Amino acid sequence: MLDLKNKVVVITGAGGVICSGIAENLAQYNAKICLLDLNYDAANEVAERINANGGMAKAYKANVLEKDTLIKVKESIHADFGTCDILINGAGGNNKRATTNNEVFSNDTFLKDDFFSLNEDGVRFVFDLNFLGTFLPTQVFAQDMIGKTGCSILNISSMNAFTPLTKIPAYSGAKAAISNFTEYLATYFAPANIRVNAIAPGFFVTKQNKDLLFDKDNNPTPRTKKILNATPMGRFGKVEELFGAVNLLLSSEDASFITGVVIPIDGGFNAYSGV
Ligand code: NAD
Repeated sequence: MLDLKNKVVVITGAGGVICSGIAENLAQYNAKICLLDLNYDAANEVAERINANGGMAKAYKANVLEKDTLIKVKESIHADFGTCDILINGAGGNNKRATTNNEVFSNDTFLKDDFFSLNEDGVRFVFDLNFLGTFLPTQVFAQDMIGKTGCSILNISSMNAFTPLTKIPAYSGAKAAISNFTEYLATYFAPANIRVNAIAPGFFVTKQNKDLLFDKDNNPTPRTKKILNATPMGRFGKVEELFGAVNLLLSSEDASFITGVVIPIDGGFNAYSGV
């Protein structure tokens, strides 16, 4: 049973679909939940829901790419709740400018929204958001964990970190970097008793991938059909299906010897060769 009484949990991207769900779930275990998001209103809605249900939460406007802002937010959190015990690096996502139209090279689409047309700024945006957006909050909030017990960090990798998905080379590469960074941090922080793990969700319909999965009339795209055919369970995941693994990884008792793992939560996508 997860016990987060008096634990300060900092979650980035907490206004989004996956992390708002994770935040609401963790609030039930008596944690003090700090919801960081670029979109303050979205994070604040989650905070209001948690508080209305008897939990303890507060929203903070924060850009995970601005270290100075993160340090200021940390100071506010210290005043509101105390130092951080658990950090969930949830902010992340893809961007249209870093997405090709075709899956593989074709003469018919040469230089038309293909690999050669990918926008350099878009690629940089995606790498920054996912990698630096995990690196900087870790630098800022893991300092709070030094000298304490029961602290851990949870990163969000992705299925595309194991095998890249077509169309989204920057996002796949950036998530591979998150899995790699998770292992680096687990090693680095082991002497400080800070465990670092990651979940690698398969396919969950959220704001950042809706355009790839459904057309403007909300019909499944051909990509959705391919995804579901490649998922042995034949469906998208539901956010609540992440909670079991998240709760385990954050439990300082049940997961006391678990660090540096990346757990796929994907309905079997990663296990299936397609044949
Ligand atoms: P989402 O778009 O619903 O949520 C992302 C949140 O991050 C948004 O609230 C957004 O405002 C916030 N954000 C964006 N840039 C930010 C910044 N610079 N600073 C602070 N906050 C910022 O997406 P989601 O699907 O819930 O994604 C959560 C995490 O899960 C991401 O890291 C994503 O890459 C990962 N993931 C999602 C899926 C999926 O199928 N949806 C699969 C694997 C991994």
